[in-house]
Amino acid sequence: MRKLDTRTIVVASHNAGKIAEIADLIGPFGFSAKSAAELKFDEPDETGTTFEENAAIKALASAKASGLPALSDDSGLVIDALDGAPGVYTANWAQREDGSRDFAMAMEKVEKALAERGATTAAQRTGRFVSVLCLAWPDGHTEFFRGEIEGQVVWPPRGTSGFGYDPVFQPEGYETTFGEMTADQKHGWKPGDAEALSHRARAFKLFVETCLEA
Ligand code: IMP
Repeated sequence: MRKLDTRTIVVASHNAGKIAEIADLIGPFGFSAKSAAELKFDEPDETGTTFEENAAIKALASAKASGLPALSDDSGLVIDALDGAPGVYTANWAQREDGSRDFAMAMEKVEKALAERGATTAAQRTGRFVSVLCLAWPDGHTEFFRGEIEGQVVWPPRGTSGFGYDPVFQPEGYETTFGEMTADQKHGWKPGDAEALSHRARAFKLFVETCLEA
C-alpha cells in the first residue's frame, strides 16, 4: 500500500454531486484539491465492465494530465431483482439522446423494470449503492477502496437532497431515503467516527485508514 505524501490532489470527476460530497469528506484533511471539471480535463470514456476498471480509467487520466495524484469515484446502484442492473451502467440509464442526464427518467426506468419483474414488496426490492474510489499516481500506481450500503428501492421518489438516485434509495434500518437526509446524515464522516453511512463515505474511510494514517 502506498501512502499519499502530498495534500495537493485532483478530484477526478465531472459529476457535481460527487465532487461536492468528496469536498465535504476531504475537508478536515487540509487538502488543496481541484476537480477534473474545474481543470477542464476531457471526460474519459468509461469502457470498463467493473467499478474498479472505470474508477482506474478516470483516476489515471487525471493523474497523467495533471502530474498529481488523483482520486476518482465510480459508483452505481446494484438491484438484486434486476440481476445487478443498472450497476456500472447507472449513469447511462439517465442518458438522454441529446447527451444530457435526466435522473427522474432514470428512476422511472428502474421502477418500470422492477414492476415488470413483479417486485412490489420491500424484500423483493433490495439492493445496494456501491462506490469504488481509486487513488492513482502519475507513474501509474493505483489503490482501490470499495464501500457499499445495503437498502431498498422505494417508489415514489422522496426528498430533494443529494443527487442522482438518492430519492429512491432507503438504506437498511432507516425510514428516510438518501434524498430526505441532510448531507451530514448521508455522507458525513470525519476522523475518529467509528462508522460512515453512505457507500462513498465508507470507501473514503478506507482510503483515509490506508493511505493517510501513519
Ligand atoms: P459513474 O460513477 O460516473 O459511472 O456514475 C454513477 C451513477 O450512479 C451516477 O449516475 C449517479 O447518479 C449514481 N450514484 C452514484 N452514487 C450516488 C449517490 O450517492 N446517490 C445517488 N446516485 C448515485
